[in-house]
Amino acid sequence: MSDFISANGVMFRICYKNGTPAKGKEIYEGQKLCKCPNCINRNKYDRGTWNQVTAWTKDVARLNDLADFLKGWECKSEASIKTTYYDFDSETN
Ligand SMILES: [Zn+2]
Repeated sequence: MSDFISANGVMFRICYKNGTPAKGKEIYEGQKLCKCPNCINRNKYDRGTWNQVTAWTKDVARLNDLADFLKGWECKSEASIKTTYYDFDSETN
């Protein structure tokens, strides 16, 4: 079971390093399926192959920014690619 929190209309899963809940050690993880024209086209013929990003932050105060990042994210690929992982804290400091 996971807990969720929403920010700017995006749901974030609350998880913990090594899976052990500890106060102050929360990691907020959000996902987005890409709905760019390439992904939409590909899914007409090959369903379920949305490209996607998983991004996380440890700072609850940055959830709104991360939500905006996820909403604006696009895969920029014509092909089906592996999930993109994005550490919002280290990439944007
Ligand atoms: Zn896409």
